[in-house]
Amino acid sequence: MANISSKTRQLGLIGDPVTHSLSPFLHNFLSDRLGLDYVYMAYRVESENLKEAVLGARALGFRGFNVTLPYKREISPFMDQLSPAAEITGAINTVVAQSSGSLAGHNTDVSGFTRAANRTEYPIENSSCLVFGAGGAAAAVAYGLTRLQADKITICNRTLSKAEQLAHNIGRRTRIEEVRAIGLTSQATDKRVRNANVVINATSVGMVPDEAETIWKDEQAFDSNQLVIDLVYTPSPTKFMNLAASQGAQVLGGLDMLVCQALDSVELWTETQFDTEVAFSESRRRFREELE
Ligand code: NAP
Repeated sequence: MANISSKTRQLGLIGDPVTHSLSPFLHNFLSDRLGLDYVYMAYRVESENLKEAVLGARALGFRGFNVTLPYKREISPFMDQLSPAAEITGAINTVVAQSSGSLAGHNTDVSGFTRAANRTEYPIENSSCLVFGAGGAAAAVAYGLTRLQADKITICNRTLSKAEQLAHNIGRRTRIEEVRAIGLTSQATDKRVRNANVVINATSVGMVPDEAETIWKDEQAFDSNQLVIDLVYTPSPTKFMNLAASQGAQVLGGLDMLVCQALDSVELWTETQFDTEVAFSESRRRFREELE
């Protein structure tokens, strides 16, 4: 950041609100660490100005930007192209301004999830998975699981109709063998959680300031054959992760996915090959320090 010049390329985050975001911290750290001449800023954009903000970023020569709530869906009409992940999930979190001037929308929550999940070395291929949640993060996870070649996915959500909608979309758009929807309080949910190989919390339950909450409270639900993932990264570990770990399950927190989706955005913007293991571990450490 100290060496900003007239050649420095701009990156940023568009959303409302954005002041809580750690993305500027992480991306400027990565630019410094990787020797990239980019600067990353957060921009609060009101909904009536979204189109102008996108056109403005293009006119000002931004290399790209991230998109956060509430615009991950709303930004789609302003894109010239969508990646398969953005199209299937209906959500965009990374925009790349291509040399032709066109804008491409991507969803690095999908690749961030698969990359983080692959780091566990748990065999997700042919597995049976249960996803708590049916919002944007759950859509990214569900599609990510199909890319990891899971066999069966159950979408379990408080609002059943949203789970049904997501399950229908994933079933229609992918080659998944079986995808089902179930309500959070359904009697069958207990059995499905126990029988799943991989259980993922893609809801906001358990996030600060409600860290005493957990999406699943059963103290007998998990065992040492399962992988349990929580997308929530504050606190880290969450109560849900502690519950699963105390029953012997392998656990993964949301921080790894957060770092992986950021690294995927950087790769899309810079088309630069870098030592991802070093970038991953340093970013994770710095991110963790920042969150504490
Ligand atoms: P979202 O679209 O608003 O969806 C929220 C989901 O949480 C919905 O399924 C909602 O159920 C459920 N939910 C909320 N409160 C609940 C409660 N008290 N009991 C049961 N279910 C509840 O949000 P999102 O974008 O999907 O994000 C979800 C979480 O993932 C957030 O904590 C976010 O920070 C995290 N996330 C992490 C990463 C990462 O890189 N680690 C990336 C993306 C998101 P209903 O449909 O019934 O309302």
